[in-house]
Amino acid sequence: MKLRIPYFDYNATTPVDEEVLQAMLPYFSQSFGNASSYLHSYGKEAAYAVDAARSAVSNLINCVPEELVFTSGATESINLALRGLAESYVKKGQHIITAATEHKAVLDTCASLTKKGISSTILSSNSDGSIDLQELEDAIQPSTIAIAIMYANNETGVLHPVSAISAIARKHGVLFFCDATQAAGKIPVDLIRDGIDIMAFSSHKLYGPKGCGALYVRRKDPRVKLTEQITGGGHESNRRSGTLNVPGIVGFGKAAEICIKQLVSDSERTQRLKAKFEEAVCQATGATINGNPSLRLPNTSNLCFHLPNGSAFVNDLNKLMAVSSGSACSTAKAEASHVLDAMGLNQSQIKSSVRFSFGRYSTEEEVLYAIDAIGTTAAQHR
Ligand SMILES: *Cc1c(COP(=O)(O)O)cnc(C)c1O
Repeated sequence: MKLRIPYFDYNATTPVDEEVLQAMLPYFSQSFGNASSYLHSYGKEAAYAVDAARSAVSNLINCVPEELVFTSGATESINLALRGLAESYVKKGQHIITAATEHKAVLDTCASLTKKGISSTILSSNSDGSIDLQELEDAIQPSTIAIAIMYANNETGVLHPVSAISAIARKHGVLFFCDATQAAGKIPVDLIRDGIDIMAFSSHKLYGPKGCGALYVRRKDPRVKLTEQITGGGHESNRRSGTLNVPGIVGFGKAAEICIKQLVSDSERTQRLKAKFEEAVCQATGATINGNPSLRLPNTSNLCFHLPNGSAFVNDLNKLMAVSSGSACSTAKAEASHVLDAMGLNQSQIKSSVRFSFGRYSTEEEVLYAIDAIGTTAAQHR
């Protein structure tokens, strides 16, 4: 049997935690009821399980369960948020502010909304991946509906100052939408403290199953209005129709529960592994860190190796370990990272850049192996 290579791509997706899988299994063929079939015990059983999961997921981000809408993942949540806000607040205005380093799910949705008369301002990025808060405030117009800025960047791990952004949004009466897909489960996300109005995140980035996500929609101060994008039976309080993915939601709930318990220990451990990894790799290869070194997710390391043929290096590296280059999220096209481009890296530097993302099952042994393998491979490509 072929040995599995070490996995350093936790920001792309995570394995389902064994405990999560066990929690999900009964909901496929035994407790298979439709959570909307509340008249009989099958439906009630499913509905109870969904309620429990909704509570668990709301505990992860400190909101009330009724503020959560279950979706098929962060991409759908982002589409529901941006399209739903654009439709609900069309009388207030037709302008959205976002940033060049956002995920394609946000940028492409904003671009698509342009066809419907919603314009967007795309904030530039500083070389360390941060945004300029003055530029943000200056971009606000009377017709601005929302600011869409992510919590943590998926490629570099760079954290944005969400409390400062929400203060600016509040001051100008603009809503703050946040893509927290990389933050939820990795660092404390607290909606009371953070002041976010609407927030997307996903189960498969926090050791739950794929095909399940959530959108938090603030219920008061202010109550966020959202036009549903998928119509039908009126599920999820008329915000997202369609029979609920009960096993997925149960798994998402269990995954959230485990993240709450292990958040501190998991993040301290990945932070330690990352620090050791970066120190050794940068020392051995002359690689530099992309993104503000101190304002980053604990698990994410995006390094530029400054090699003449970066693509060949990344291909060789991926025979030895699972890592990501540029944008793994744009499936079909192998286009260069728009995030690193926005940060001012040139094409050669972008091709020489690799994202290593660690997680719950990363081991010291794997990191030591990686340090060694990267050193050898980089030397071959010098
Ligand atoms: C993975 C990711 C998404 C997309 O999430 P899916 O659940 O896979 O649709 C969106 N935004 C960020 C920041 C991500 O990392």
